[in-house]
Amino acid sequence: MVRHSSRIELKQSAYKNNINFIRKKIGEGPVFSSVVKANAYGHGIEVFVPMAEKCGIHHFCVASSYEAEQVLKACRDDSQIVIMGILYEEDIVWAIEHGIAFFVYNFDRLPVTLEAAKKAGIRAKVHIEVETGANRTGMNAREFPRALSYLKKHRESLHFEGLCTHFGGAESTSNQFKIDMQHKRYKEFLQKCKEKGLMPQIRHIACSAAALAMKDTVYDMVRIGVAQYGFWPSPDIYFAHIYETNKKSDASLKRIFSWKTDVMDIKEVKPGEFIGYGTAFQATHPMNIAVLPLGYSNGYPRALSNRGQVLIHGKKAPIVGLINMNLFMVDVTHIPSVKVGDEVVLIGRQKNNVINVSSFTNATQLLNNEMLSRLPAAIPRSVVK
Ligand SMILES: *Cc1c(COP(=O)(O)O)cnc(C)c1O
Repeated sequence: MVRHSSRIELKQSAYKNNINFIRKKIGEGPVFSSVVKANAYGHGIEVFVPMAEKCGIHHFCVASSYEAEQVLKACRDDSQIVIMGILYEEDIVWAIEHGIAFFVYNFDRLPVTLEAAKKAGIRAKVHIEVETGANRTGMNAREFPRALSYLKKHRESLHFEGLCTHFGGAESTSNQFKIDMQHKRYKEFLQKCKEKGLMPQIRHIACSAAALAMKDTVYDMVRIGVAQYGFWPSPDIYFAHIYETNKKSDASLKRIFSWKTDVMDIKEVKPGEFIGYGTAFQATHPMNIAVLPLGYSNGYPRALSNRGQVLIHGKKAPIVGLINMNLFMVDVTHIPSVKVGDEVVLIGRQKNNVINVSSFTNATQLLNNEMLSRLPAAIPRSVVK
């Protein structure tokens, strides 16, 4: 049985290209950790992770133990996993038993982790996340000396694998003063480690924006999300690159993702007739329309009603009427010989034309990340060369 009415393809060569580009920026030394939270930003953990491994990535960051489990199922035995976000107490033993590292973001988590490590009979891989100015998760400076003493005292059960923080807004040049302050505070934490004689194995603070545009934030590891998927974190980071390389434009980062479906039916519509629900679209001339078998329940934003476009035979076909729950219609009057079963590109390239995620998000006010991460996990993903 065919269980889905659309499909997502990941282009391995584009991914490899992105890795090489980011690698050039960060140098050979640092560990490249691929951030695959939110189902690999919608790309699909199950398919994305093995593809990333083929391209030389062996380190993955996730947001929860549930995602860690998904990566664990998909990855090689020697790949590393770090949980950056929620890890419920009842899952800590599980994480330790599977060699999964995790952020410890307040002091109270340390005794809990110690108990779990003893229960598992295995050393826990602890990444202390410190509070530097995002006021999200992170251990504050007051707790930190006590945490270091605790780690030192219980080093046979607690491995101080990482010291990390996360920038709140490294994408935007106007936040630079805040990012600089966060970095300065991070260095003060590092200094405390030095004074205590207990250094973390891996220092890591850089996300995509920082890794691409702020070289001094690249320590022993970088946590790369959005850029590996081929998206510049923001116009600011793109233009900083343009300025630095003295280029007029740059297509170094390539989208790896395309989203496709097929024509379900073709209709001729007479002038004066309405298309779909209500009166949102009325034909003013004889039209040919194609019916597509997906809608907002399949992740296609309803906000694109009467304004989005798809590609058929390499040509843009405008959406006519409202996006329904499981269907929408496009105008193909200007595209000759469209047939049932013809390929439709919702996002991506077809012949010489392209529909970008940005053309989606401009119309819908969604962030790239928001649009991608909301794509239903049920849509099948596959890798193409
Ligand atoms: C999401 C996330 C990242 C990756 O951010 P990008 O901007 O997508 O590279 C890195 N670190 C943490 C803690 C995150 O939550």
